[in-house]
Amino acid sequence: MQKTLILLKPDAVQKSLVGEILSRFERKGLKIIGLKMIQLDDAVIGEHYDFLADKPFFPSIVSYMKSSPIVALALEGHEVVKVVRQLCGATNPADALPGTIRGDFAKSIDNNIIHSSDSEETAAKELARFFKAGELHSYERTLID
Ligand code: ATP
Ligand code: MG
Repeated sequence: MQKTLILLKPDAVQKSLVGEILSRFERKGLKIIGLKMIQLDDAVIGEHYDFLADKPFFPSIVSYMKSSPIVALALEGHEVVKVVRQLCGATNPADALPGTIRGDFAKSIDNNIIHSSDSEETAAKELARFFKAGELHSYERTLID
């Protein structure tokens, strides 16, 4: 089954949106296979956003991403990469539709609440970046699946 990596960015934690966002993924039927709060440092932020390193806004991304702890989440489900991207909405909250996480809660592209992997290949790399092998769980939901 496909897996994806989600980060609830510092503004999600600061605005007490962690439960609301987790609830949206659970209501969709996606399975939580990993969940933890972590404080990011320059090294992991630099690795995660290396494709943006030459952008003028890169220093502000780094300071934003380490401004408070974040919540890292691993989800599993059918086409979960695409499903989660749809639930998150467009990168720029001004383009994100109402009903999406960014459409409902984010005000600007530099404080856009959430990250999710953009392909199955990226997800594999990002899951390994934020979770050790023993922190991802394989289990059956015997009561609902
Ligand atoms: P994410 O990777 O966080 O899920 P995304 O895949 O929708 O977002 P990317 O193009 O990968 O978008 O950009 C990564 C992040 O870099 C964005 O979520 C945003 O926080 C930041 N970013 C991208 N473009 C800009 C910009 N023009 N100004 C400020 N921040 C930006
Ligand atoms: Mg991205």
